[in-house]
Amino acid sequence: MRIAETSVRTRLTLWHVAALGIIVLAFSATVYFSVRSALLAQLDQQIAHDLGIVRQAAAAGAYELYETEEHGSISLFEVLGKAGVVYKTQAWSRAAVQNLDVSTRPEDGSWSSTLPTGDSYRIHAATVRTADDTFRVIVAEDERPVRRSLRSLALTLLLGFPGALALALVGGYLLAGKALSPINGIVSKAQEITADRLSERLPVDNPNDEFGKLAIVFNTTFSRLQDSFDRLKRFTADASHELRTPLTAIRSIGEVALQSSTDQACREVIGSMLEETDRLRALADNLLMLARADSGMAPLRRELVDAALLVHEAVEYMHALFEEKRQTLEMDLETGVYVEADRTALRQAIINLLDNATKYTAAGGFVLATVRSEKPAAMIIEISDTGPGIPEDHRDKIFDRFYRIDPGRSSETGGAGLGLSIARWAVEVNRGRLQFEPRPGGGSTFRITMPA
Ligand code: ADP
Repeated sequence: MRIAETSVRTRLTLWHVAALGIIVLAFSATVYFSVRSALLAQLDQQIAHDLGIVRQAAAAGAYELYETEEHGSISLFEVLGKAGVVYKTQAWSRAAVQNLDVSTRPEDGSWSSTLPTGDSYRIHAATVRTADDTFRVIVAEDERPVRRSLRSLALTLLLGFPGALALALVGGYLLAGKALSPINGIVSKAQEITADRLSERLPVDNPNDEFGKLAIVFNTTFSRLQDSFDRLKRFTADASHELRTPLTAIRSIGEVALQSSTDQACREVIGSMLEETDRLRALADNLLMLARADSGMAPLRRELVDAALLVHEAVEYMHALFEEKRQTLEMDLETGVYVEADRTALRQAIINLLDNATKYTAAGGFVLATVRSEKPAAMIIEISDTGPGIPEDHRDKIFDRFYRIDPGRSSETGGAGLGLSIARWAVEVNRGRLQFEPRPGGGSTFRITMPA
């Protein structure tokens, strides 16, 4: 996985760890080298001071050198004359420094020497001239304590580095999570905002930070969208409402004309016009119902509904249509099944399903309406027919508005593609579910399931 593909939280944490790693490394190196040079400078200062004392003693003579070794704090020094060693301390004889063979280095000054055994010394050398002789004075100091201190400092810094990185990782992850937490709130709320729930708004924890500003910008957009949606819904509701009055007027004028006309051709024309007026009126009614449903303005009243009685009523209401097509409409109604729902909406759903059953089933076909209580549902209503059924690739879409499988045939039967969307709304508003299922042996079954 590439870094660019990981979450912002992970990326922020990694950047934080990398930056802190570089800072800790630079800081450790600075601490190590400054401590090192301070310790070495201190050592040099000490040896230079000791060299001064030994030089004075060398100029004064051997006894003075002996006194310096015995009573002073300088233990490692050697004085060379022209003929060889003039004086060397006991510690010098014992220490590994004598293996360095410092006499071979002719020049004065200071240097560090390390033996293959790991023994390491800081050495200062100077030449002392008296009236009758010339001496070379060499003072040494064991460097090992300084090196040991530096080693343990380096070890501490090295061991501390992964610890610091681990702390940076945990701390960075927690901090990034805390800083990004408003985003999670915004994301989960944004997922809830749909066309039906445009009144919801994203949470704004702090209007002055980046997330707050982003949420405010989105909220303003949602407000504008909601405004447009509301206007559109109001327009549909108003338009369909306004259409109903002139349509009713056309219908009554047409009926009067039909009664008074004696011309057969004219009567047929008026008859067709009246049929189209009825379809237009039904369409306007359906549109008004959907517009009210969308804006949540449809009046709903929950009451205890006797399912068998409700289906019986709907069947009675539609009976004439079935008779007209010589279709058999049978009922299998379990009594004593009650459900809490809006009676009018549920009745509308059943009527729409029965209407489709008679419309799409051929003359002489068979339609069955059943009511039963079946756990875990409280109630199931099914309308089955022996019609053509619904091809698989249309099953998801038949509940969409204005969706018709065969627009040509549907307009013959008078449908505009709103019947099932209204039925689905009417069932869902009562917390139920409307589903299609192919009927065994051909045809369709539409099932309304009401939860317990
Ligand atoms: P319409 O007003 O055109 O009937 P619907 O929303 O009620 O619209 O139905 C959508 C489409 O589903 C219809 O065009 C029709 O093709 C199909 N359909 C609905 N009910 C049935 C049924 N019982 N049998 C076969 N096809 C159906």
